[in-house]
Amino acid sequence: MEILAPAGSLEKLKYAVVYGADAVYAAGKDFGLRAKAANLSNQELIEAVEFCHSHQRKLYVPVNIFAHNRDIDKLTEHLKFLQEIQVDAVIVSDPGVFSLVRENAPNLSIHLSTQANTTSYKSAEFWYNQGVERIILARELSFNEIIEIKKKVPGLELEIFIHGAMCISYSGRCLISAFLNNRSANQGLCTHPCRWQFSLCEESRPGQYFPIEEDKRGTYILNSKDLCLFEELNKITVAGIDGIKIEGRMKSLYYVANTVRIYRAAIDATNQAAADQQVASHIDWSLLREELNKVSHRQWTKGFFYGRDNDSQSYNNSTYQRDYQFLGEIVKVFDLSQSPLKGIRTSIDKDADDKVVVEVNVRAKFEPGDEIEFIFPDYRHDKQITVTQIYDLENNVIGQSNPNQSVRLIVSGHFPLAGIARKRIASPSRNHADDHI
Ligand code: SF4
Repeated sequence: MEILAPAGSLEKLKYAVVYGADAVYAAGKDFGLRAKAANLSNQELIEAVEFCHSHQRKLYVPVNIFAHNRDIDKLTEHLKFLQEIQVDAVIVSDPGVFSLVRENAPNLSIHLSTQANTTSYKSAEFWYNQGVERIILARELSFNEIIEIKKKVPGLELEIFIHGAMCISYSGRCLISAFLNNRSANQGLCTHPCRWQFSLCEESRPGQYFPIEEDKRGTYILNSKDLCLFEELNKITVAGIDGIKIEGRMKSLYYVANTVRIYRAAIDATNQAAADQQVASHIDWSLLREELNKVSHRQWTKGFFYGRDNDSQSYNNSTYQRDYQFLGEIVKVFDLSQSPLKGIRTSIDKDADDKVVVEVNVRAKFEPGDEIEFIFPDYRHDKQITVTQIYDLENNVIGQSNPNQSVRLIVSGHFPLAGIARKRIASPSRNHADDHI
């Protein structure tokens, strides 16, 4: 079973792979339904294919807009290009785009996007007979319905969403953003107005708005919780699902890395536990589960997994829960004796043997005295340190790190590359802004 990770940029794609994704989905600059993500240029797509394939991972490219006539010529060129660079599949939802792939890029595998709303085995069978290799099922399906589709169309690969934001609208078929903001969700431009506050207006009294108050801040009648099926992984694995997808091409590098590594660890542990019960007793599931809470998220729901869930709506707020802040990523690690900081005396360099210097690309401020954590692809390597001194790249001691700056820290122990720094927030924030850095 593949773990599919979102990548809104080439950098996030690399972190997704290094942190354990089997496949990454990342779009080109056009046609990929996440217009506000950075997305990848053609040159970056070439690099992405090389990076994924050199790590024995796959790259799937969403081409899941509902195309207009004006899109067809450019789209045709894009599909030919994707075939030429040998991406592993394209993800489509529009039958017109589907036939363009067959006519112009016949060697491309086709995955059917969740936007196509496949909700029955007849629909799945139809698309399978057309040549679709995999279907990303609608989020509105229960586990029993998914199993039935698998049994009735056994040759078809099935992928389901396992984690991330949900649309209040049926499989993203939504006009709210287009109507209120002139930015169509079906063109990848959703501004998420379903999270806004709404009032009641009686039809014959235009201009008179009656507040709908669920609490003192207002109402959230269209505000879905976030999906998390972590506890259902065992069931999903046994059922023979081919791919589990993490939502979030707009989310931060930290979100992608931490979420991917936890599902990676959980699936590996599930597989090991199936082979050896002794292993099962050594897995700290609650620690893994807790890690998922350390990335900003809304309240959790299991969505439609057990059928219609009246608890999938967040009625009491539309805010994100954010207990940790993403501080930056390690870009270099030096032995202290080899590093530019060699010879600098600090309060911690008395036993220089196990000291290393880490260079961090800073995203958010930290300062001496802060307790910060470094996470790594294998969660068992995670480390916590107290910041003593911070150096800039000219080896000057500085009072704090600032965003978009590179700084160096002297630390103890083994620090693999690709580490990510985070800090527990003293007063966890509950706000409307997600962690999109
Ligand atoms: S406005 Fe909300 S429900 Fe509609 S497409 Fe955007 S996220 Fe989904």
